[in-house]
Amino acid sequence: MRTLSILGATGSIGRSTLEVVRANPGQFRIIAVVGGHDATALAQAAVAARARFAALADPAGLGALRAALGSSGIACGAGQQAVLDAAAMPTDLIVAGISGIAGLKPTVAALAPGRRIALANKETLVCAGDFFMAEARRLGTTILPMDSEHNAVAQALCGRSLADVARITLTASGGPFRTWDAERIRKARREEALTHPNYAMGAKITVDSAGLVNKGLELIEAHHIFGIEPDRLDAVIHPQQIVHGLVSFTDGSMIAGMARPNMCVPIADCLAAERRLVSGVPAPDLAALGGLGFEAPDLVRFPALGLAMQAMRAGGHATAVLNAADEVAVEAFLAGAICFGDIHRIIEETLEVTARDIMRSPSSVEEALAIDHTARIAARGVMASGRVGTA
Ligand code: MG
Repeated sequence: MRTLSILGATGSIGRSTLEVVRANPGQFRIIAVVGGHDATALAQAAVAARARFAALADPAGLGALRAALGSSGIACGAGQQAVLDAAAMPTDLIVAGISGIAGLKPTVAALAPGRRIALANKETLVCAGDFFMAEARRLGTTILPMDSEHNAVAQALCGRSLADVARITLTASGGPFRTWDAERIRKARREEALTHPNYAMGAKITVDSAGLVNKGLELIEAHHIFGIEPDRLDAVIHPQQIVHGLVSFTDGSMIAGMARPNMCVPIADCLAAERRLVSGVPAPDLAALGGLGFEAPDLVRFPALGLAMQAMRAGGHATAVLNAADEVAVEAFLAGAICFGDIHRIIEETLEVTARDIMRSPSSVEEALAIDHTARIAARGVMASGRVGTA
């Protein structure tokens, strides 16, 4: 039996991970589960998984967590130190599934020799990718990509040398605005942005997918996780979301990673050892699908993708700024304070106003968090300037 901890156990990645664990009885012993604010949901997950330790990020939830765990005998804690302690508890495998910049410190705390980290937190790579991957190499931690696109690429690469790779391509569904004109996208409402065609995910990532900024963040992730330069990375729109990632080799061969759009598939791949696990998801039925479509992403209607690609070329400081500005902008959009078209304008202006001050890739978690903090202030400044915010 292998030991496993789950950071973000109550979110969509964590719930799907526990589903895969249940589908493969006798294979995993759950050590720690970590949640954000929902003490009841975390306690339920901990009891169902027979975890040894449950940690809640919100320190105010300790009483509720203790009460909900009752006489289960599961140890618990709350607050940032409890989360970091949970991440550092020795296990063979750890799922890093906390979303947002809040996931950075716990994911770094999970680095340990010989360990495997199944990485679903984007910010670790987007905000501190150079530092994180260097630390993983130094310590001998294996990083497994859990995001569906990167997981598909890793499977297609199959351990081959990057010297043989001509191009790595990630697919994007195109989101709910794929066929909309620019003006309609600019004025899109909250409810319209929150309808993802294929995946039920958190609000932030769903809005990010609608503007293709999510694909930009994923290209940045791919740059770090595969150690490949920006010029050999691109994205293609593929509405059916059956192909998730492709590797083109120097001899003209192309290998596609395909699966139904269900996170249990990449999760099962990350959790597997020598043999494949049960994911509960059948392989795609191509005859039933009839056809698969692909189209080039339109950077005029979806300028945030272009901004993310520019930031990737500029380096680690710029991608951290891009991420912070996007979080601030999406939060404002979800609160109804700005229109959809303002999101990319806030990102663009924040990149411009911070370009003079922040010019190096963070070399520690503290530096990454400092850049994030500065960029958030800048993004709020851009919003307060009156140049954007027209909702
Ligand atoms: Mg993805």
